[in-house]
Amino acid sequence: MEQEHWERKYHLALERMERDERDFRVLEEGLRRLVLRLAALARGQGDEADRLLDRLGDGLRQASSPEALDPLLDELADAVAHLDRSARPLPDDALDHPDPPGVEALRVILQRIVLLPAFTERGDRLRAALAEVRDAQGTAILAGQLADLVNHQREALRTDIVKLQDLLGEVSGRLGEMTRYLDGELEGRNAGAVEGRGLDSSVREEIRLLGEHTRDAVDLGTLQRQVESRLEMIDRHFKAYRSREDARLAAYRDRAERMRDRVEELETQATTLQDSLRREHELALTDPLTGLPNRLAYERRIAQSEQALRDAGTPFCIGAFDIDHFKTINDSFGHAAGDAVLRIVGQALTGRATPRDVFVARYGGEEFVAIFDAVDQAEAMRIAEDLCRIVEGLAFHAKSRPVKVTMSGGVARFDATDTVDSVFERADRALYTAKRAGRNRCEAL
Ligand code: GH3
Ligand code: MG
Ligand code: MG
Repeated sequence: MEQEHWERKYHLALERMERDERDFRVLEEGLRRLVLRLAALARGQGDEADRLLDRLGDGLRQASSPEALDPLLDELADAVAHLDRSARPLPDDALDHPDPPGVEALRVILQRIVLLPAFTERGDRLRAALAEVRDAQGTAILAGQLADLVNHQREALRTDIVKLQDLLGEVSGRLGEMTRYLDGELEGRNAGAVEGRGLDSSVREEIRLLGEHTRDAVDLGTLQRQVESRLEMIDRHFKAYRSREDARLAAYRDRAERMRDRVEELETQATTLQDSLRREHELALTDPLTGLPNRLAYERRIAQSEQALRDAGTPFCIGAFDIDHFKTINDSFGHAAGDAVLRIVGQALTGRATPRDVFVARYGGEEFVAIFDAVDQAEAMRIAEDLCRIVEGLAFHAKSRPVKVTMSGGVARFDATDTVDSVFERADRALYTAKRAGRNRCEAL
């Protein structure tokens, strides 16, 4: 509302000045005609003066600007000043008298000029000058003053219009900049809402003051100063707001940056943790001496086979193996040699010679266990015997002497009524049957 008020005020001032300028053009034209008539009336005072008056007449008819007449008017004033003192003076009541008509017209025009507020001061001076017009010399001087006045006023008007246009340009430029900033920056940001409301109310207050002060402004200069000072204040509020917003944004970015770093750090930690968990998990299922799956891994694996049997009827068998006379190896060549045997046998049982779908684990001590998936007991027996042959074929040396390593095995098929324990117990019994039967062989139960 306030903004509209002072903007309207500026436009009205502009229109008024343009109207005044048009009025002055009409006035100037009237004055030009008036001076022509006065020049005609003033003739007969002397040859030199008449000649100059003729030139003045010609000049007025042709000249487009009053400045062009200035030198001529000076010359005329000089010529009049040199006229014979006996020249006939105008009667005392010449100004009130209808004759000469030029003087009367001059009075009317001067009255119009002095009624315009901008001319009050100069109008007073002209009124005084007019009162002194008694003769042709006075008339010539007055004509010069009028030309001067019109010229000066027109220049002043032009300057004022340019200033006002500059001011309006600046006002709309700054308001435009602020509006763009506020539209772009404030609308998208909820966090800035409180700050934005603060700015909004201070800008409103400045615009209200702007409206109030400019309403009372009497001239362009005051108006301009009021607008500039209020704009300055708005600008200051605006800049303060902007720097607070920028600081807030920087702090926000900083926080976001730190948070991103922290998240990255946590992600790395999570990955590391996941890796170490996987390693722990693998370790928990691996026998450290042989690198084979351990008993726990075997238990998990047999649970899968049992599930496949129950779900799809896929049969499977297990084999229990035990190294023969292992105690003797330990006793003869030392515990380290025993360990080496365990490692070599473990590698052989999980090596290339063993079918890929046969799962072998170290059950404990010098005992191994195998799962034969999707095979019947006869096939499982064949594979078990193959494994025994593989071990028998190992060329193990201790203390530069070849050491015979063999193992025995017991095979059992997992029946519908079996549990993990019962099938193992049967395989174990078969293993001891093989032991009793002379070792380095397999039996099934
Ligand atoms: P059998 O043919 O009847 O199986 O006779 P064996 O000597 O192999 O049987 P026994 O159970 O009497 O001996 C097993 C030995 O295995 C006993 C134990 O000290 C040894 N042993 C168990 N675990 C390890 C191990 O990790 N390393 C070594 N070097 N020896 C082990
Ligand atoms: Mg044993
Ligand atoms: Mg043994």
